[in-house]
Amino acid sequence: MRVDDVCVIGAGPYGLTATAHLRAAGVNARILGDVMSFWRTMPDGMLLRSSRNAISLSDPARALSLDDFERERASPLPSPVARADFVRYGEWFQRRSLPDVDPRPVEHVAPIDGGFRVLLSDGDILLARRVVVATGLANFARRLPVFDRLQPDQVTHSLHLRDCSIHRGKQVLVIGSGQSALEAAVLLTEAGARVELVTRAPRIYWLAQTHDTNGGWGPLELLLYPPGAIGPPGINLCVKLPRLYRALPGPVRIRGFTRAVRPAGSDWIRPRFAGVTETLGRSVTTAETIGDRIRVGLDDGSDRLVNHVVQGTGFEIDVSRFGVLSPEIVRSLRTLGGQPRLGPRFESSVAGLHFLGAASDLSYGPLMRAIAGTGFAAKSLTRQVVAGLSRAGDPQWRKTTLAVEPGLDFVPALPGNRS
Ligand SMILES: Cc1cc2nc3c(=O)[nH]c(=O)nc-3n(C[C@H](O)[C@H](O)[C@H](O)COP(=O)(O)OP(=O)(O)OC[C@H]3O[C@@H](n4cnc5c(N)ncnc54)[C@H](O)[C@@H]3O)c2cc1C
Repeated sequence: MRVDDVCVIGAGPYGLTATAHLRAAGVNARILGDVMSFWRTMPDGMLLRSSRNAISLSDPARALSLDDFERERASPLPSPVARADFVRYGEWFQRRSLPDVDPRPVEHVAPIDGGFRVLLSDGDILLARRVVVATGLANFARRLPVFDRLQPDQVTHSLHLRDCSIHRGKQVLVIGSGQSALEAAVLLTEAGARVELVTRAPRIYWLAQTHDTNGGWGPLELLLYPPGAIGPPGINLCVKLPRLYRALPGPVRIRGFTRAVRPAGSDWIRPRFAGVTETLGRSVTTAETIGDRIRVGLDDGSDRLVNHVVQGTGFEIDVSRFGVLSPEIVRSLRTLGGQPRLGPRFESSVAGLHFLGAASDLSYGPLMRAIAGTGFAAKSLTRQVVAGLSRAGDPQWRKTTLAVEPGLDFVPALPGNRS
């Protein structure tokens, strides 16, 4: 049975870039997952919130940037960059750097002595010394319990809002004040729905940095809003430097984090917002089905009769919801706000198990929620893996290989905590 040094689960921006860097460093890394699948499920007509200078995927040869992609396709990409173009870019990156991505979903990851056993959906079993979980946000949609009793076709999380035209002529309530909610409200309105946006926040924040102003103020703008910046000037510099961010005292980090990722919308949504009815500073308290409609009650005692509800309520990472981790792993993970608590270079308290992307943002800061964080994450991880491989002893690994020969059960002991 083949044993990989590393098995990367997930073929989105983080999984692709991490694998590209690992392989360039000579690591035998396998990558599993449906390439850019998360981005393919987002709404038609969606534009990226990030400016184009913050969405290049990190490749070790520096030959696969968005600019390289644009040059090769010989036609300029409009700015803001469209979701569909970003998907094409990601797929191009994958074809160029990792043509052998294995699309099979992972069902289960369990520890064995000296590594991990990875079970695929078709029953195949792989062994790896290290596993990198880069499965993104798809399992972590935050849903309001008040809607639990509604039918799935009455209430959608913004994550699953693909075709807005099916709501043409309908009354739709959108909840939330972040990018997903605001953009959903606009796309639904433009598709012919009557949309009311309900936000808990008393106002909507619009981002000062826009695609149009990017670069337009010259060096001052680059200083205030460096490429990939998240948050207001000052805070965004700390966020851009994850090592500095980690070194800050806890309370400072938390305040910076909260401010950097405050719900807000891109400035380019604003002029398209005219047709949306806004109800600010209100929370949903009740929801019930009345015939083919939904009656939604708000905390001011008013109610609405609507055809559909869209929850633009964000995401909440919880180690028990990755869906692929064995109960032993979930029990052994030290956590930070529900996320795996990560040590140096993205390794969790289960030695050899790494997490990239949004699942690392409480440890490494909000940059890890964004494509702009892929370079830092991929390089840090690669350093750790290369150092770990040179330390790994063959005898222990031979034991692992024997222990998982077909027909034998998992070895339940977890590898010790090395961090
Ligand atoms: C509406 C919306 C808009 C956003 N806009 C921006 C933006 O403008 N700029 C920005 O920087 N960020 C944006 N983000 C954040 C974005 O999610 C991340 O930047 C980026 O997608 C993170 O990449 P990832 O590789 O961690 O996860 P994902 O892109 O979600 O990729 C996850 C991968 O894991 C795979 N996978 C999942 N489970 C399994 C399994 N069991 N087995 C095998 N494979 C599996 C999936 O198929 C996929 O390939 C946005 C997020 C949302 C929700």
